[in-house]
Amino acid sequence: MVPLLHLVVPSILFQIASTSIPIPLPKVGIIGAGAGGSSAAYHLSQLLNNNVEIDVFEAASVIGGRMATVNIFGNEYETGASILHPRNKLALDLVERFGLDQRPHSSSSVTSILKDSEFVFSTSSWTILTIYKILLRYGFDFNKLQAMTQEFIDGFENIYELQDKGLSFDTVELMLSAMDPKLLNLTKSEFRTFLEENGYGEGFITELVQAITYVNYGQSTSMHSLVGHISVAGAENGLWSVQSGNKMLAMALLNNSNARIHFNTRIESILAVPSGSAFRLSTDRNGQVALPGTYDKIIMAMPWSEQNPIQFINFLDQESVIEAAAALYRSRSYHRTVATLVAAKGITPKYRKWVDILSCTPNFFTSISRVHPVVLTRSERVPVFKVFSPEPLTDSQLGEIFEEIHQVDVSDWWAYPEYDRIPPPLPSFHVLPNSIYYLNGIEWAASAIEMSLISGRNAAIQVASQYAQTGIPPTKRRKTEL
Ligand SMILES: Cc1cc2nc3c(=O)[nH]c(=O)nc-3n(C[C@H](O)[C@H](O)[C@H](O)COP(=O)(O)OP(=O)(O)OC[C@H]3O[C@@H](n4cnc5c(N)ncnc54)[C@H](O)[C@@H]3O)c2cc1C
Repeated sequence: MVPLLHLVVPSILFQIASTSIPIPLPKVGIIGAGAGGSSAAYHLSQLLNNNVEIDVFEAASVIGGRMATVNIFGNEYETGASILHPRNKLALDLVERFGLDQRPHSSSSVTSILKDSEFVFSTSSWTILTIYKILLRYGFDFNKLQAMTQEFIDGFENIYELQDKGLSFDTVELMLSAMDPKLLNLTKSEFRTFLEENGYGEGFITELVQAITYVNYGQSTSMHSLVGHISVAGAENGLWSVQSGNKMLAMALLNNSNARIHFNTRIESILAVPSGSAFRLSTDRNGQVALPGTYDKIIMAMPWSEQNPIQFINFLDQESVIEAAAALYRSRSYHRTVATLVAAKGITPKYRKWVDILSCTPNFFTSISRVHPVVLTRSERVPVFKVFSPEPLTDSQLGEIFEEIHQVDVSDWWAYPEYDRIPPPLPSFHVLPNSIYYLNGIEWAASAIEMSLISGRNAAIQVASQYAQTGIPPTKRRKTEL
C-alpha cells in the first residue's frame, strides 16, 4: 500500500551525507526545465543536502518553459506567464533568497470590456471614478468578489505551512483537501453556477468575470470554480513579476541546485530497465536509442496530453498501472492561446481610446494590452502591445487593430488545460507509485507559476522522504542485499 501522505525528517536525511559506508547517490531524471522541473531540482538538492545526482532534460534551448520572453528592438517582453500574485509565497521567498528584484505590474490607465462588438464598460484613470462606474453597473458584486477571493487565498496559503512541515501528497485531491476541504469542492462546480448560486448578477458574471477568465485562461466561466477563483485572483491589485523576466525564477532554482541540464533533448519515451526498478530515457518513440544515464526516479515536469505524449516501454507487469495514467492524459487536451507582440506606432481609431481591451465573448482577439520591457535596456522606439487570441492573427486582423506596424512576434502556446472539458477526478502525482512522478497533474486544478512551484516541491519532498525511510535508493538496496 502506498502511503498517502509523507513526512520528511531532515535530520535523518542529513545522515545520508554523514554515513561512513559509501552509498551510491540517488539518481533522478527530470523531464522539463520550467517552473515545476526547476522547483523539483532545487528542493530535492536542498532536502538531500546535494547528495543526489539530477539530470534535467529540456526540449528547448532555454530554461523557463512557459515563462518566456521575446526580444523586440533590443528589449525583452514577457510572452508567456507574466504576472504573480502578491500572496504567491513560494515565488516571493525565492526572489528574496536568490536576490532577484520584483517589478510591479504596470496596468494601463484604461481597461475596457468588449462584448460582441460593443464596449460595455471601461475604467477611468481616476480611481474614484472607476469605483463609481463599477458600483453603477455592477452594484456591490465587485466588493463581494474581492472578499471572496481573499477568503479563498486564506485557505490556499495553508499549503506553505504543510510543505514547511515536510508533508507531501500523492494526489491533487489529497493536496487540496489538506489545504482546505472547500478548495476540493470548488473543483466540482462550474464557476458560472457557483457565482449565480452566491447571488452575483448576470451582467457581472458575463461581462467582468468572464473578461477576466478569458484573458487569464482563454476560456469562459464554464471552467470549474477553483481555477475560476485563481483567475479572478489574477486581476487583483499588487500583481508583480520578476525583474529581467519570470524565467529568472527557473534559472535561479536550477543554478542553486546540483542539476546538470541537457538542452535540446526532447524525451519521447521512458524505459524500464529489466533487472530492477530503474529507468532510462530515450529521445525516440520506440526507445531504440536510450540516453546514457540510469535513474532511480523520474519526474515528469511537462504537460502530458494528447498534444505531448510520452511512451512507456518494457514495463511488463506494471503496464496496466501506467496505461491507466496514460489513458487519462491522452484524453485531455490543452487550450491554444496565441500571444502576438506587436511594435506599432499606434492603435486604429476603432480601438484607440479603449486600450487595454478585454473581450468577454468569443472574438478574433481575447485581449489587447500595452506591455513594457522586463527591464528597460534601451528606450522603446515604438510602443509594444500584446494581443492574446485563440488563433494566429491574419494580416488584415492586425491591420484592423494597429497603425504602422514595425515588428510582430508570435508565440503559439498550448497554454493551459482545456477546463471546459475537465472530467473528474483530479489526477494523481504518481504515474508509477514512488518511481515515476507527474507534476503537471496540478494544472488540472489550476495552471500558474506558483502551482508548478508547489507541485515541484511536493515531488521533491516525496522523493526525499523515501531516502529518509531507507537511507539508500531501493535499487541499490536490493543489490546490496543480494
Ligand atoms: C500565454 C500564457 C500566459 C500565462 N500567464 C500566466 C500568468 O500571468 N501567471 C501565472 O502564474 N501563470 C501563467 N501562465 C501559466 C504558467 O505559465 C504555467 O502554469 C507554468 O509556467 C507551468 O510551468 P511548468 O514548469 O509546469 O510547465 P512549462 O513551463 O510548460 O515547462 C515544461 C518544460 O518542459 C519542456 N518539455 C516539454 N515536453 C518535453 C519533453 N518531452 N522532453 C523534454 N522537455 C520537454 C518544455 O520545453 C518546457 O520548458 C500562462 C501561460 C501561458 C502560456
